[in-house]
Amino acid sequence: MGNAANQLENLLASGLYKNETPMEFIERLLTIELTTRQDKSREKRMKAAGFPYMKTLEQFDLKFQTSISKTQIRQLKEMSWLEGTYNLLFLGPPGVGKTHLSIALGIEAATMGYSVYFSTMDDLIRLLKTSEITVKSRRKLKSLLASNLVIIDEVGFLPISRQEANIFFQLITNLYQQTSVIITSNKSFEEWGEFLGDIVITAAILDRLAHKSEIFNMTGESYRLKHRETIFKQDWNGKLTH
Ligand code: ADP
Ligand code: MG
Repeated sequence: MGNAANQLENLLASGLYKNETPMEFIERLLTIELTTRQDKSREKRMKAAGFPYMKTLEQFDLKFQTSISKTQIRQLKEMSWLEGTYNLLFLGPPGVGKTHLSIALGIEAATMGYSVYFSTMDDLIRLLKTSEITVKSRRKLKSLLASNLVIIDEVGFLPISRQEANIFFQLITNLYQQTSVIITSNKSFEEWGEFLGDIVITAAILDRLAHKSEIFNMTGESYRLKHRETIFKQDWNGKLTH
């Protein structure tokens, strides 16, 4: 009980001062040990998850993104989809909040004690291709496969080769019914065949991903463009001023 030991002297001193009973003291000591352990393991899980940046559900404006309801967000926050190894697919054009939501749900999951692995599709393919060559990649892949939740961001941004589609299919097969997957993609399912380059593999991948899943077709304007920041301010008749 290293955390409790570290705090022991302070706790004893404040306990005397507060006229604590021995039971109260022990409870306080154990609570400190427990919460410090929980904080540390959350921190570890957050680090292992490899989020590119932090975004929370609270920061997500549902008035701007109306394809998702408050009730749906509340349900997603409860994590029963993760318990039941359901997948989540966030589909839609750039800037509608797909990555934001997937990071925010990943953070919620890590906070609740689940192990999470975040990767872009690009990095994932690179990892899969090097996993038999470098120790670092092998270790990463091992941690990915042991995670409760794998987030694959930006599926479909860049076309991939047939061999890459094959190793991606193998990964999805390995994760199938063992691990929840969150996918974000700017491509609709009809377009997946195009960037994966093979309709048979595409069908097999989508079959596994969609079997137990919730699909969110996110529409609307780009939050980035709407809240665009420029170095110039525009005056009322559209002329640029500093
Ligand atoms: P996508 O992955 O769909 O391209 P992102 O999730 O990266 O979009 O969102 C782009 C930027 O806009 C991010 O900084 C994100 O936090 C913000 N954003 C998008 N949608 C919302 C929203 N509904 N509320 C708050 N911020 C949003
Ligand atoms: Mg994105």
